[in-house]
This record gives sequence, structure tokens and C-alpha cells, in this order.
Amino acid sequence: MKKPSPATNRDHAALVERVRSQQAHGWTVREVGNVCGMPLLTAERSSGSNRPLVLLVGGIHGDEPAGVEAAVSWLESRQADRWPVDWLVLPCANPCGWLENRRTASGNHDLNRSFNLAECCDEIQVIRKSLDGKRFLFSMDFHEDCDAPGYYLCEIKARPPFAGEQVIQAVETVLPIWDVPRLDGRKVATRGCVRRSSISNSALHRRRLWPLEFHLLRHHTEHTFCSETPMGFPMEQRVRSHHIALDAALRVIVTHTPHKPNTP
Ligand SMILES: [Zn+2]
Repeated sequence: MKKPSPATNRDHAALVERVRSQQAHGWTVREVGNVCGMPLLTAERSSGSNRPLVLLVGGIHGDEPAGVEAAVSWLESRQADRWPVDWLVLPCANPCGWLENRRTASGNHDLNRSFNLAECCDEIQVIRKSLDGKRFLFSMDFHEDCDAPGYYLCEIKARPPFAGEQVIQAVETVLPIWDVPRLDGRKVATRGCVRRSSISNSALHRRRLWPLEFHLLRHHTEHTFCSETPMGFPMEQRVRSHHIALDAALRVIVTHTPHKPNTP
């Protein structure tokens, strides 16, 4: 497929270079596929000692730029070194959408409504393949919301310990929290945090179009987060909030996790 024209001042080659340059700092960067003439990259970091694996995803929606910037700058920040976990990072899951500043990917597919449609578009095939056979301690997916006046979080996990409360408390130092009784059509579990206890098999069957989280819960993990920053705030604050959210989740989860192998 032909490469789309940039609708903004975005430079995908420069983004790729930023990710690739992390190879000098212990990350293994792979081109796991090519979509719209652009590489789709993963960055992995393994201690070789079978630590639990954490998945970080940015840019499922191409018009949510702080997600991509937060994932790339997380690699650059060396913050990953502080935690006794291994990493798989997809810093820009939807390069075509990112380049054109649009939500959807190739073929105008919303990736977050397509994860059970293996044949729908190249991105879904590439991302699903890059996750193949992996088991994650948890996943965090960096998103943005253009209508939200504040930050919020979606957490899916069957039983405690949860990390949503601590993530919200930590992010509140940087951004206001969206304090409403319902978020995403669901009653909040705690201020700014929607929690689902798990996704049942019948719910999976009922939902015709799966977000990434459904695919992850079905095949790769028991604990997912979507971190949602409000787009009306400056980029730097939004990026910092995603980092703080990830850091807070790691602090809670790593503390409560006995050493487990990361493969099924
Ligand atoms: Zn999104």
C-alpha cells in the first residue's frame, strides 16, 4: 500500500530513528511488519532471567499523539531500567494514522474495533503476530480523549490487587482527574477509574468488534490498563501523565508479584 501524505508536520522517519537509536541502550528494536510503506517497530528488553513481561502500546489511534510520544520517550527516559521486569513496547502501533493525524489505520479501520478480525488490515496481523506466544504481567495502552476535561483510566482485572486508585492519585499531581459518576458508559470504581472485573467468554462472543484489550485478555494477560489523557492540555503534561500512570502501576503490581516466568 502506498505511503500516505503527512497531514501534519509529523516525520515518521525521524520517529523510527528515535526508536532505533535505543538499541545503543539495551533495547532490541525489530521491524515486525511494514504498513503503508512504513515500518512497524517493536522495542524489547530482556534481562535473560525470565522476569515477568510488561506490554506497553502507543498510538493505536493515530490522532492521539501523546500516546506515541509517551511510549517513545519512555524508552528514551531509561525509566524502564528501574523495574525488575522485561519489556515489549509497540511505540507507534498505527503509523499510517499517526502520519495523517487520523484515528484509523490502513483501509480506514479503527484498530481498537478490529482485534478479532485477523484479515481486516495489515496492522492487526502484524500486531497479533508480534504478541504471539507471549504472556504479560500487565499491559498499558496509552490513549487520549479529545472530549475529556481531565485524565481517566480503564483497568480490567478479575480480583485484587488493583492499581487504579494509586494511578489516579499519582496522575493527579500533574493533571486534573475527570470526576464523573460514569465513564465510557460504566459506573466508576473510584474517582477517574472505570474497572471491569474481567471479560467473560459470553461478553467476548457478544462484542462483535474487539478492542486491543479484549484480544490481550483472551490470549496474553489477566490485567490491562488504558491510560487516557485529555487533549486540551499541553503535550508535555499529557506525556508526563502517561509516564506517571505506568510508574504507579508498576509500583503496585511489581510489589505484589512473586517472580513468575513470562512464557505460557
Ligand atoms: Zn484512543
